[in-house]
Amino acid sequence: MRTVTRKSAREIAEMRRAGRIVAEVLALVEEALRPGVSARELDALAEAHIRRRGGRPSFKGYRLDRDQPPFPGSICVSIDDEVVHGLPDARVIREGMLVSIDAGAEVNGYHADAARTFFVGEPPAAVAAFIETTRLALMAGILAAVPGARIGDISGAVEDVARAGGYGIVRECVGHGIGTRMHEPPDVPNYRTRARGLELVPGICLAIEPMLTMGGADVYLRDDGWTIATRDGSLAAHFEHTIVVTDGEAGILTTV
Ligand code: MG
Repeated sequence: MRTVTRKSAREIAEMRRAGRIVAEVLALVEEALRPGVSARELDALAEAHIRRRGGRPSFKGYRLDRDQPPFPGSICVSIDDEVVHGLPDARVIREGMLVSIDAGAEVNGYHADAARTFFVGEPPAAVAAFIETTRLALMAGILAAVPGARIGDISGAVEDVARAGGYGIVRECVGHGIGTRMHEPPDVPNYRTRARGLELVPGICLAIEPMLTMGGADVYLRDDGWTIATRDGSLAAHFEHTIVVTDGEAGILTTV
């Protein structure tokens, strides 16, 4: 059982550097996300930027367990009913698609991880509200990450926003600790559990990442071994930041 580590100021500075690169990648991809571009082209853009800035794509070659094929790209491109881990393949982006981009970068051995959901074109009002609520669920989770609070307080804050919107909360995937590895303890669920969870202290770094659906919360793993999609085909959204617990409000590491 690995334990939760508190990062030093030097380590947090490295993660901040990685986080800035990740934020730049998401901005670049947002700019390039137009009808006609392929997921693979977005991936190439992301990888080139990460390497140009002296980082390494955290996702490339990553596997969650030994049975899984290594992840083939540098970003996840999850479209419409795909929740997370969509492959950056030859699929072409079209008007009306809901596209979630997840990116990770490693700098000097430290990782940062962030995600955002975009709509290609003008979203229907209900979809716009769904995207915004998922973003607000992330922000509520970040605001709950103060010293003395517990992981369960983050989970509860995310859950309350999601439930108020009437959205499904994916339970199979959760946020996580992050640092010298992309996935470290503790888990950060997007829903309350029996346990209140670990007490937060300054230096703990977390990736908080609500994954919500417009329909049911059930998901399944596609045959590609990576893509997680909603069972009922409903749309899914995903927002994520890497944060550090401080003496006051959490610091967001994945910003420019
Ligand atoms: Mg993550």
